[in-house]
Amino acid sequence: MADKDKKIILREGEIPKRWYNIAPDLPKPPAPPLHPGTKKPIGPADLAPLFPMALIKQEVSMEPWIEIPDELIEIYKLWRPSPLVRASNLEKAIGTKARIYFKNESVSPSGSHKPNTAVAQAYYNKQEGVKRISTETGAGQWGSALSFACNIFGLKCHVYMVKVSYEQKPYRRILMQTYGAEVDASPTMKTDAGRKINQELPGCLGSLGIAISEAVEEAAKNEDTKYSLGSVLNHVLLHQTIVGLETKEQLKLAGEKTPDIMIGCVGGGSNFAGFVFPFVKEKLSGKHDIRFIATEPMACPTLTKGPYVYDFGDTAGMTPLVLMHTLGHNFVPPGIHAGGLRYHGDAPLLSLLVNEKVVEPRALHQTACFEAGVLFAKTEGILPAPESNHAIRAAIDEAKMAREGTVIVFNLSGHGHFDLAAYDAFLSGEIKDYEYPEADIKKALESIPKV
Ligand SMILES: *Cc1c(COP(=O)(O)O)cnc(C)c1O
Repeated sequence: MADKDKKIILREGEIPKRWYNIAPDLPKPPAPPLHPGTKKPIGPADLAPLFPMALIKQEVSMEPWIEIPDELIEIYKLWRPSPLVRASNLEKAIGTKARIYFKNESVSPSGSHKPNTAVAQAYYNKQEGVKRISTETGAGQWGSALSFACNIFGLKCHVYMVKVSYEQKPYRRILMQTYGAEVDASPTMKTDAGRKINQELPGCLGSLGIAISEAVEEAAKNEDTKYSLGSVLNHVLLHQTIVGLETKEQLKLAGEKTPDIMIGCVGGGSNFAGFVFPFVKEKLSGKHDIRFIATEPMACPTLTKGPYVYDFGDTAGMTPLVLMHTLGHNFVPPGIHAGGLRYHGDAPLLSLLVNEKVVEPRALHQTACFEAGVLFAKTEGILPAPESNHAIRAAIDEAKMAREGTVIVFNLSGHGHFDLAAYDAFLSGEIKDYEYPEADIKKALESIPKV
């Protein structure tokens, strides 16, 4: 052990040159998205007002590998390759004989995996002459990643930030503005969707669903503006596979033949998918028997309790219908502290693998997750994002039960430096466990459209 490296570092020249597209390797072909009105499969032309053609092509591509442009690799060098770290101090603290590693995506400029896709999306928009990108953000993780990316490519960025976060969580707003973005508290008076809500519900504090409607409307109405999403879509998961591809090389360098267990947290599914997809092929082909554990909060148990059906991506029912695990587009998750894990649905590609039992979903209580996060901070020094705490909790639980020599690898999706209020609440005993009541889940499921 003494001569083993703590951090496994790749050189910049070893940044992957291609993203891995899992679509052709899936046990079943992915189901097509359906038009929200006609319920017929949509084509590339339906998406053209919102996304640049290069991203639409990636969205439906059946090519297993997609080249990463050189210009983008140069930008990735700002934080990539990210380290793979042996969590040796954590291993000692819990007394496990398993070997635990974590991929550290908290080293990016905005502190999470999200810039991996934000810079790629900004790049393709720039290539196609787009001048401005609109998007929504809850607590601001996605908004700050996209603001950073747009600034690099000289694009304007307009972020609709849910009003309650805008007022209560100013620090990520300030980060977005520092990167040069225009940030508005949603609902605004700048769009039809925003004006309508403000008129009907004066003083409304907003929701992600409303913010999406505003950002989509802006892109649909302006020739020079496109819309951008930070998770769920196939092309977003594709861009994140750079995480898993690096991890694969790093495990080899560490002398590990294969991981036994890989763990991540799931909001829309992008960091988990990007981390495990390059390994899923080995499991499907029978080469290695790897367990993939997707963690989520008990308060928003999409993969563990939501059926696998067609549903809308947004609350208003404006987006295409996609086949996924969902709690119903009317599901309103409680205000738990892992803001990035509060989405009613999940990425279709990940949902398919859960439904095929290739990926194991697991719901966790938030106090147990914060306990794991605090132990991780005390042993490995990094204060994790509350979302990432779910992965750490599962890694610790698996390590405690594991046989000697088991290799457990988890994705540290981000740091928690902007989430100190949540840690404050935890340390002062104010964070309570909350399991979403079955009756309320049943009610939200009633909103799922019949297809
Ligand atoms: C946004 C976010 C998540 C959840 O999003 P996914 O698309 O599921 O990855 C998880 N962790 C952090 C730190 C995030 O910012």
